[in-house]
Amino acid sequence: MSARRAARPSSARDPRAGRRRAEGRRGRSRSRRLLLPAVTAVALGLAVGVLGVTVVSGASSGPGAAGAATPTTGVVRETDEPSRSGRTPEPEVTTPAAPPPVVYPAAGPRTWRTVGGRSPVLGTAGSLLRFRVSVENGITGVTPEQFAEAVVTTLGDPRSWTAGGRWRLQRVGPGESANFTVYLATPATRGQLCNDASDHYTSCRNDDRVVINVARWAHGVSNYGAPLAEYRQYVVNHEVGHRLGHGHELCPGKGRVAPVMQQQTLGMHGCTANAWPMRDGRLYAGRSGQYDDPIPDTD
Ligand SMILES: [Zn+2]
Repeated sequence: MSARRAARPSSARDPRAGRRRAEGRRGRSRSRRLLLPAVTAVALGLAVGVLGVTVVSGASSGPGAAGAATPTTGVVRETDEPSRSGRTPEPEVTTPAAPPPVVYPAAGPRTWRTVGGRSPVLGTAGSLLRFRVSVENGITGVTPEQFAEAVVTTLGDPRSWTAGGRWRLQRVGPGESANFTVYLATPATRGQLCNDASDHYTSCRNDDRVVINVARWAHGVSNYGAPLAEYRQYVVNHEVGHRLGHGHELCPGKGRVAPVMQQQTLGMHGCTANAWPMRDGRLYAGRSGQYDDPIPDTD
């Protein structure tokens, strides 16, 4: 049961998006102040920088990409302060272009798109577990390939489970045997997969089903204290951590870093957000236990 009340938030708002926008505004304001005195001396192309931003291209990785894997495409460039010596200012890559919103029905059809092909083996030592990645039909704004890339990038990160020397992981295609499946599921399907119909809010793990609730993938949780990309990394590591045998853990103290197996979706309890099981090359864990946090009714 504890494994089913995995990651969860307290509202559907995406706090990260607002912060990112706010940071973008601050950055642009700074650029404008710096640029205005020199605007008459620069070319038309630079004037775009005065106005704020130039969208270089559409995002190619979309919302499924983990934060650590944010590509250099789909970025907003701001023009840096023109040098008074006349050198061409170098563009500064700052804020990723807004990906399309992840949209989903409250209850999907329980049919799936499973990503084909294989990922590299993640990790260099330990038992090898293979997993599939399946995205429920009806979910738009993130393709199965994007979601799979986000999962693989997270699990292959040197801060993730595969760095500990105990586990290696590999994503495989739909026709291959697998030890578990990572689902991106609508809220109602999440309840069905985890035999817990009352909870449409959290993600969960039930036997070989690692179920990421698309509502949390889309919106994260309020008051998480970190960007949505980090919350997504957290929820993947947390739920896969259950599959690897880890139970819930407690915040070790006010102001400390939350263990990845803390139910950060439901409350931080004085800890700071953390998406990773490894810190400084070592497993970072808290005391076993969980809080009796209420699960929000909203998706
Ligand atoms: Zn959990």
